[in-house]
Amino acid sequence: MKRIQVMPLGPVPPDQLAELCSGLGREFRVETEILPAEADPAFAFNLTRQQYHSTEILASLLRKATPASRHLLGVTPVDLYIPVLTFVFGEAQLQGNCALVSTHRLRQEFYGLPADAKLFRERLLKEAIHEVGHTLSLSHCDNYECVMSASHGVEWIDLKGWHFCAECRAVIDERGRAKAVI
Ligand code: ZN
Ligand code: ZN
Repeated sequence: MKRIQVMPLGPVPPDQLAELCSGLGREFRVETEILPAEADPAFAFNLTRQQYHSTEILASLLRKATPASRHLLGVTPVDLYIPVLTFVFGEAQLQGNCALVSTHRLRQEFYGLPADAKLFRERLLKEAIHEVGHTLSLSHCDNYECVMSASHGVEWIDLKGWHFCAECRAVIDERGRAKAVI
């Protein structure tokens, strides 16, 4: 992976995108780029659930067919689900190059609490790094402080950091080296 492209799907404030990009660039040590915004992913809306099918949106990102060296991260304000779960914070193509993250349930306001911009930005960065981590073949990590630990609620996100543990970092570095010699 040489570059992460961030594509807003629906309205996402530019300052949030810029901060997200700089965090992603720092953690993955790659260049980042913000792509022009696309419309709300209305095609994935489920009328019964009043949510958006995450896998359908991910499939639409895959059709944009970016080269393997560029990873594409969709960022959307809509609420995502997959059929077996009430909701998902995001979804990624394991060992692929596309990932998706939702900001919907990362805001304190969603839980009836006062807004906390700093906490929101931290949660978004953690979930974005987590989903892009999946595209680099990382699965869930047992270290609860590692960004690759599974999060089934915002409490879990708040517990973990936005860094990879030494083991997960080693996998990323290994992949980087493997790419470099091919
Ligand atoms: Zn995950
Ligand atoms: Zn880890």
